Amino acid sequence: MAYRAEYLWIDGSEPTREIRSKTKILADGAEPGIWGYDGSSTNQATGDNSDVVLKPVFQCPDPIRGGDNILVLCETLLTSDMSPHPTNTRAAAVEAMEKYGDQEPWFGLEQEYTLLDPITGWPAGFPSGGFPAPQGPYYCGVGAVKIHGRDLIEEHTTACIEAGLAISGTNAEVMPGQWEFQIGPADTVTVGDHLWVARYLLERTAESYDIAIDLHPKPVKGDWNGSGMHANFSNGAMRDEGGEELFKKICEEFGKNIDRHFSVYGADNDQRLTGLHETQSIDKFSYGVSDRGASIRVPVGTVQDGWKGRLEDRRPASNGDPYRIASVIIKTTKEALAS
Ligand code: ADP
Ligand code: MN
Ligand code: MN
Ligand code: MN
Repeated sequence: MAYRAEYLWIDGSEPTREIRSKTKILADGAEPGIWGYDGSSTNQATGDNSDVVLKPVFQCPDPIRGGDNILVLCETLLTSDMSPHPTNTRAAAVEAMEKYGDQEPWFGLEQEYTLLDPITGWPAGFPSGGFPAPQGPYYCGVGAVKIHGRDLIEEHTTACIEAGLAISGTNAEVMPGQWEFQIGPADTVTVGDHLWVARYLLERTAESYDIAIDLHPKPVKGDWNGSGMHANFSNGAMRDEGGEELFKKICEEFGKNIDRHFSVYGADNDQRLTGLHETQSIDKFSYGVSDRGASIRVPVGTVQDGWKGRLEDRRPASNGDPYRIASVIIKTTKEALAS
């Protein structure tokens, strides 16, 4: 029987890229091949030369449709010479892996996001036109007063597992209606592939609940936590040899490359990195053991394991592009190892 391949790609929306998709019906036994779309409707081409090529790079079962149906994540290419489209950050991540991949990097990304009423734009659990009781009880909370959208989150998690994604956990966050899932550990390109597919599945699952997904890093102004995408990372040296000196050297190298990192850590991140709400201020750089007010946290587990394991860069915003975030991190850690 014919089956459906949902082609997914990342558009050219500014300042924050979004996922797009369309459906191809394939005859029984046929493979999903090269396809294309109208780039003039996705901020990736002009109307007089509108075609953009879709090249399949990662596929998995489609847990929403089930059966033989699949999801096909694609890179975008120019029709002229089939080279990567300028907005194709995955191709750049593959290149970064060729240059810096010998350190065997792993990532675990913590995607925070907020569930919104699509009409009012107000978070799930916020009374209409007003505010809920102050933050405190909601993080990892239980019960209908604290928790909003659990069924949606459970359905999304099941979908990620059925798709075979490296989802490693979920939790309710500090603001009502705010949640998190984690993807990892996985390499530089895979973590991006799985995270973008997980974002797609989240949007798709939320459609049937009539809920909007908001990746903005500061969805509600004031005394409400923003949304980040903490980047946990390690390489072979950090996992196997370790040592306090090595970890300090890497953190110091991050401190020398602040602009490089913030240039890809997401739009409107200044609204979130205020120094309040478990963040370091955007114009300061610091690192410390267990310090959730630092730019980079050394998780206590890393110290307990004899300074072996991961670091957590807490600065990336929820709306960042995982390919770009992971690419700059392996560049900086590679430079630290070489110094
Ligand atoms: P937090 O304590 O900051 O909330 P989480 O448990 O939400 O951290 O996320 C930690 C992430 O780091 C997970 O996705 C996990 O798979 C990943 N991780 C664990 N060990 C490593 C490692 N050595 N290198 C990279 N990522 C790792
Ligand atoms: Mn977390
Ligand atoms: Mn979190
Ligand atoms: Mn974290």
